[in-house]
Amino acid sequence: MTQRKILVTSALPYANGAIHLGHLVEYIQSDIWVRFQKMQGNECWYVCADDTHGTPIMLRAEKEGITPEALIARVHGEHTRDFAGFHVEFDNYYSTHSDETRSFAEGIYRNLNDAGLIEVRSIEQYFDPLKQMFLPDRFIKGECPKCGTMDQYGDSCESCGAAYAPTDLKNPYSAVSGAKPELRSSDHYFFKLSDPRCQQFLRSWTTHGALQPEAANKMQEWLGGADENRLTDWDISRDAPYFGFEIPGAPGKFFYVWLDAPVGYMGSFKNLCNRTGIDFNEFWNKGSTAELYHFIGKDILYFHALFWPAMLEYAGYRTPTKVFAHGFLTVDGQKMSKSRGTFITAESYLQQGLNPEWLRYYYAAKLNGTMEDIDLNLDDFVARVNSDLIGKYINIASRCAGFISKRFDGRLSRELPPSELLRKLKAPETWKKIGLYYADRDYGRAIREIMLLADEVNQYVDSKKPWNLAKLEGSSQELHQVCSLAINLFWLLTVYLKPVLPKLADQVQSFLNLDEEKMKWDQHNVLFNEHQIRPYEHLMQRIDTKQIESLLAANKESLVNDTLAPAQATRAKAETSHISIDDFTKVDLRIARIVEAAHVEGADKLIRLILDIGEEKPRQVFAGIKSAYDPATLVGRLTVMVANLAPRKMKFGMSEGMVLAASDTDGKSPGLFLLSPDSGAQPGMRVK
Ligand SMILES: [Zn+2]
Repeated sequence: MTQRKILVTSALPYANGAIHLGHLVEYIQSDIWVRFQKMQGNECWYVCADDTHGTPIMLRAEKEGITPEALIARVHGEHTRDFAGFHVEFDNYYSTHSDETRSFAEGIYRNLNDAGLIEVRSIEQYFDPLKQMFLPDRFIKGECPKCGTMDQYGDSCESCGAAYAPTDLKNPYSAVSGAKPELRSSDHYFFKLSDPRCQQFLRSWTTHGALQPEAANKMQEWLGGADENRLTDWDISRDAPYFGFEIPGAPGKFFYVWLDAPVGYMGSFKNLCNRTGIDFNEFWNKGSTAELYHFIGKDILYFHALFWPAMLEYAGYRTPTKVFAHGFLTVDGQKMSKSRGTFITAESYLQQGLNPEWLRYYYAAKLNGTMEDIDLNLDDFVARVNSDLIGKYINIASRCAGFISKRFDGRLSRELPPSELLRKLKAPETWKKIGLYYADRDYGRAIREIMLLADEVNQYVDSKKPWNLAKLEGSSQELHQVCSLAINLFWLLTVYLKPVLPKLADQVQSFLNLDEEKMKWDQHNVLFNEHQIRPYEHLMQRIDTKQIESLLAANKESLVNDTLAPAQATRAKAETSHISIDDFTKVDLRIARIVEAAHVEGADKLIRLILDIGEEKPRQVFAGIKSAYDPATLVGRLTVMVANLAPRKMKFGMSEGMVLAASDTDGKSPGLFLLSPDSGAQPGMRVK
């Protein structure tokens, strides 16, 4: 067989949130495919990265009082942990915030510019005058122009479903600061998709087999008829402040995150090439014979089937061999929901002690190569894992292996009895048939086929009843042969399942004492001739329905912490209860003089204050007031501090109290106002 050269990517997860079971549909789907290719002996590389740029990352970091770099580094660690937990094995898991990605993004931009496909135009956009930034649609809120529902986003209404432009909203406000946005104009950079060259290229590319039929149809809708020109130019720039790559020769203009996200596939692969010596050009140059596959969700088809191939084509690179789009995950037939506890994070699944291979198996059983949604039905999940995976497959080993250890010193029989079933499992046509299902991403059919074989193996074991043979005088040889044959069948089933259950396959490999060659695709030999195996240890537990209940409960609990913002929580409390004067006097408020104030390295929100309250040693306090004050203006002034707050260890040092500042709790009127006493007050005076 000739060795194919294959590069596979999964869509880049955004670096501001946790991996959940919806994401995992794609990563498990692509990981199974990659493992299958590798088992066949193909040269197959699997790369991915965190998608790290854009306004949401910038604002999230600001909210947490850390730099965007610190935020994306932390999330990279979390994502890496979650993928490893589900045995998703990338050859490289990188970041778009990298020199490699920057260099490719700049190069592609220059080439598109040289090809006459970049145009600068002035556009009008909402601007937040307080935050001094242009606002993305999702950061503008207001009343729906159609149904009047309050607090709707700038692109669509969650209540009536209407789609509109941010300028259509009534009483718009900035979701960042609460300020009323102003329309301002600014120069933006556009990729001219409306250029006849792009239209013509995409019309051809989208109909020549790179897309699934339903995706190709969708693209034709977007492209329109041959005499139409429906594609509009793509706005690829954003104004500062923005976390991303600055556009060469355009100070204050940054590449829109969706420009550098797919470029991150190249960046991650280049990084892998640099470490391992793989030839990057062999995979990416125009005319490359290597295969390039992108696994994506159907929601980002537009970017991968229009923008991305056009960018590559006119920047001088090869285009993808195929784009594989999949559907969304529903849980129990509905959208994942935080209130039902079905918005399940990868981390919580593992923390609750659920086996990741249960989920890999279930997803595989439900996946096919189309864009249909797949449903995680929790009752069906428990039933299938327990009845198929444990009841049919694991059961074969657990019923036969013990006899080999106890009665035959762990050795398989010298010869195997003639078996039509064994012939079938090692027949080239069976490997080929199941292999084609894997290659077509029709894992559901592969699993059905393998489980039918497992049924036949169980029928064989049931008909021979080794547990009875073990009690019969003179049946020792038959017992030995029956169990040895069953172990052979179990091994072959394991190899068939290995792309889906890699960890379990490793355990079986060790238990059966096999070398790597015996775990590759296409096994035609058998294990016999006193091959020594290791004592059987239980390979996999059944799911207990209680585990599902606690998983849902765990994801419901985390909701309370996530959605109730601190300001709301505080206000809710204040409105519902009074405190006594004794409660109030427990708070030791003191006049403090700010003797030092300085920025804190690595913290976007904090100022480090040194406060004199008449004590021998001044106090250090970290205050989240950087957005409102320049440290230099604070030195020397008086304020009020809580002196008996328990000291808190922060990343930057100990914080020994708190200064008082006024702000609007719902954040709509921005600004922070530090309290000051009237003149005459002295450091250390008690405030009551
Ligand atoms: Zn509406």
